[in-house]
Amino acid sequence: MENRKALPITLEDVEFIVKDQFEMIIDLAKYNSFCMGCMGKNEPEMLDLKVVLNEMDDLIFQGKCRYCNGKMKRYIELGESKEYHMRTQLIRESKQNKN
Ligand SMILES: [Zn+2]
Repeated sequence: MENRKALPITLEDVEFIVKDQFEMIIDLAKYNSFCMGCMGKNEPEMLDLKVVLNEMDDLIFQGKCRYCNGKMKRYIELGESKEYHMRTQLIRESKQNKN
């Protein structure tokens, strides 16, 4: 049975899901996010990354800006890929079993 809701996951979980896309995705999240505080004054860099797997099986990275400590967020779509979906299900099941 599918139980899709937003679920906090770790960077290791992200790596498990996306395999060899991991570095590219982390790069995107870290360096291609926009900070409202800096408004493009600095090259973006997101620190303290936290990840949520949302109900669409997409990734939402949240962290803080290296320069102004402002909150940053980056949405990365994974939804379409069957392979990713299979592995996000495994993650969801493993997290449920822990509780
Ligand atoms: Zn900033």
